[in-house]
Amino acid sequence: MRTVPGRTDRVVVVGAGLAGLATALRLRGAGREVTVVERGDGPGGRAGVVRRDGYVLDTGPSVFTAPELVADTLAAVGERLEDRLTLVPLETTYRAQFADGSHLDVHADVDAFAAEVETLAGPAEAAALRRYLADLAELYRLQLRTFIDRNLDTPLDLLGPELWALARRGGFGRLSSHVARFFDDDRLRRLFSFQALYAGVSPFRAIAAYAVIAQLDIGAGVWHPVGGIGAVPRAMAAAAQDAGVVFRYGATVEQLDVRGRRVTGVCLEGGERLPADAVVVTTDVPEGLVPGLRRRRPTYSPSCVTLHLGVRDELPGQAHHTISFGAAWQQVFDELTRNGRPMSDPSLLVSMPSRTDRSLAPDGGQVLSVVAPAPNLDPHSGGNPGIDWDALTPRYREEVLGVLEARGWAGLSDAIEVEHVDTPLTWARQGMAAGTPFALAHTFGQTGPFRTPTLPRRGPENVVLAGSSVQPGVGVPMVVISGRLAAERITGPVPA
Ligand SMILES: Cc1cc2nc3c(=O)[nH]c(=O)nc-3n(C[C@H](O)[C@H](O)[C@H](O)COP(=O)(O)OP(=O)(O)OC[C@H]3O[C@@H](n4cnc5c(N)ncnc54)[C@H](O)[C@@H]3O)c2cc1C
Repeated sequence: MRTVPGRTDRVVVVGAGLAGLATALRLRGAGREVTVVERGDGPGGRAGVVRRDGYVLDTGPSVFTAPELVADTLAAVGERLEDRLTLVPLETTYRAQFADGSHLDVHADVDAFAAEVETLAGPAEAAALRRYLADLAELYRLQLRTFIDRNLDTPLDLLGPELWALARRGGFGRLSSHVARFFDDDRLRRLFSFQALYAGVSPFRAIAAYAVIAQLDIGAGVWHPVGGIGAVPRAMAAAAQDAGVVFRYGATVEQLDVRGRRVTGVCLEGGERLPADAVVVTTDVPEGLVPGLRRRRPTYSPSCVTLHLGVRDELPGQAHHTISFGAAWQQVFDELTRNGRPMSDPSLLVSMPSRTDRSLAPDGGQVLSVVAPAPNLDPHSGGNPGIDWDALTPRYREEVLGVLEARGWAGLSDAIEVEHVDTPLTWARQGMAAGTPFALAHTFGQTGPFRTPTLPRRGPENVVLAGSSVQPGVGVPMVVISGRLAAERITGPVPA
């Protein structure tokens, strides 16, 4: 593994999102002097929070998986996760709601899950489920070691027994065909392939190796952090601060101060300069800050429209997370990733965390977040720069609410007290490329050694990258891992 040469005592980390926080904790744990510079007024980045009239709305991630990664990161500074965060395991990971009126509760417990599947689709599918979950766990184990949990400088780094085992298991075939080999029931096929969209690709084009995303949620379970997902970056930032990391909020890095092959500091808006022996950039578009960093034209993930609602209604009977599938399927992915059109028959992720955590809503109320995948703004990624989301949003909001009312959330629209809506234009205005918060898609050519490494070959020799635009990829678990990978580029590998 390549590492930053020379002195690395003082490190500046740009960005206090989950990647920046993870990097800072790791570096501080290894004895570096660390300053985190964040343009926002607190930690979290995309894992943002809006508080209004007693409602706490998480505006970023809603599905929290792999808490052991956060625990491991906190342990770098000698902290225990349970002293900083209360995590509630969700008994029902998701409720999958299908267009034919049936539904399936996905349980973290395999026997309970298999019993649900047997009731829905019969004993053969329940047996297939057990086989599939075992296969998924093994695929994940193989990939964690090869693709995910390590710095990759060249494709040759992949060569090894795990890669062959992955190929033998059909990891490089199509995801949709892989899932179809196990399940006859179309509803189960959907349940185990929609996660490809989390990686920014259609299951009809994704390789089967991406099936492992379902290992993170369906296989290994989902947790709710009490106080909302925003409690996770707050806990990490507090632990980092107590360990001696310095935070500069409300400070924007304007440029890096480059002398020859090295960066010697960061220049803030307003003229202040912070000296540094190494800099870690965790922004969505690192090439905006790092001189000389070039990438091939990227393919971006689809974007989303999110509706975050504070609702004066108990909405009884609803699950913490519901995946509400429309009748359309392949067409949905074509609309999102090829045709640049909003979904005509939407599949939605609806989360109601106040069902588990009453601190998030006033008595008698609930908070609901609705994620509607939407095309991004980049025509080269199948997106559409021509959609005027500012003009379309009121109509689109009505449409989504209408769909929810028809799919079981009756009375929702009239009970809304507070709301916050984000669209691809919101993400673009925050500086995210292609108007998507999900960064570069995990196409084969943008995954593993083909994704930008944490230590780029071009640009200054002491600038390291972390976050969803680089290895290993998008989502809370991946960016937390990227923090460790970035730190190891500075400290060298840390033995487990
Ligand atoms: C609506 C939505 C739903 C999601 N759902 C899920 C989910 O359910 N599960 C999941 O695992 N993931 C989910 N994700 C993805 C996940 O939130 C992200 O992958 C992750 O939070 C990205 O973290 P990051 O640290 O890489 O980037 P960021 O959080 O964007 O951090 C980068 C930080 O850098 C700061 N910054 C940028 N430029 C500068 C500058 N010049 N100077 C100083 N600071 C700067 C930014 O303000 C920001 O705080 C979701 C994201 C969104 C938006």
